[in-house]
Amino acid sequence: MAGERPVRFAGAEVIDGRAAAAAVRERVRQHVAALAAERGVEPGLATVLVGEDPASELYVRRKREACAEAGIRSFHHPLPAQTPASELAALLDALNDDPAVHGILLQLPLPAGLDAAAMTQRIDPAKDVDGLHPLNAGLLAQGSPDAVVPCTPAGVMELLHIAGAELAGAPAVVIGRSTLVGRPLASLLLGANATVTHCHSRTRDLAAVCREAEVVVAAAGVPGLVTADMVSPGATVIDVGTNRTDEGLTGDVDFDAVSGVARAVTPVPGGVGPMTIAMLLDNAVRAARRAAGTG
Ligand code: NAP
Repeated sequence: MAGERPVRFAGAEVIDGRAAAAAVRERVRQHVAALAAERGVEPGLATVLVGEDPASELYVRRKREACAEAGIRSFHHPLPAQTPASELAALLDALNDDPAVHGILLQLPLPAGLDAAAMTQRIDPAKDVDGLHPLNAGLLAQGSPDAVVPCTPAGVMELLHIAGAELAGAPAVVIGRSTLVGRPLASLLLGANATVTHCHSRTRDLAAVCREAEVVVAAAGVPGLVTADMVSPGATVIDVGTNRTDEGLTGDVDFDAVSGVARAVTPVPGGVGPMTIAMLLDNAVRAARRAAGTG
């Protein structure tokens, strides 16, 4: 990714997530080709979708299309919402044992009555391409390079790299402490030697904490939470928020106002979003490489 620079507009540099994602996908395609040529291995990703939630159906369809484009085989397992836990567990066990399946994606949320944590823990950690198994979360928290890193935080780190953000020693604020985004992101920033402050809904003075930061990552799901007066001049601001409002898709950052203060900022859409699927492909091909002994 070195050498790529963000697009510059008046004010902050706008970090182009679509271009960054295209670069990751190209890297994945090269790994897929090398695996085929050197090992005769075709990476395979199983997608498991329980129920008929339209948003989840759309996400899974996009992931499968991205797999096809990258040369990754996908094995789709749609199950009815009433699927008993024992049946879902048996499917995950079978996928764990299937050598053609290198990664397993269990689309969340699961319908009521199915325990997402228990099902996530059922997945072989080596095939856990979402990086949500407690073993991977624990490895990441310990700073181990062996952890499978959740896709969105991994994408944020790539974007910070592209933006040329200096992380070592820098004060960095993460807003949000979910297991999906905020917590792994804080671990990754700590691993990059940033001085991390982790904020959440109980943080007393979010604005004051953010003003001290050189890097702000917003992952709260609150439209317009980060305003210009909360950002120090020259900061890099990454907006993970994806909020559907009457005005359309919007992030957690007041993009127009913050662009006038920050050094670099991601837009929504076109920032973190495209990176999430790209990093899923990256995790899938990494799993296949590890299984083939080349990772
Ligand atoms: P989540 O599980 O709902 O967690 C939200 C976090 O934000 C919680 O830790 C919450 O604090 C904190 N928070 C809520 N309101 C806050 C406030 N006013 N001030 C400070 N902190 C506040 O959400 P998530 O799954 O992490 O997702 C966060 C956002 O990222 C959502 O908009 C989601 O759609 C988006 N997202 C985007 C992608 C992508 O690919 N672009 C991927 C995943 C998520 P408490 O812990 O105290 O409740």
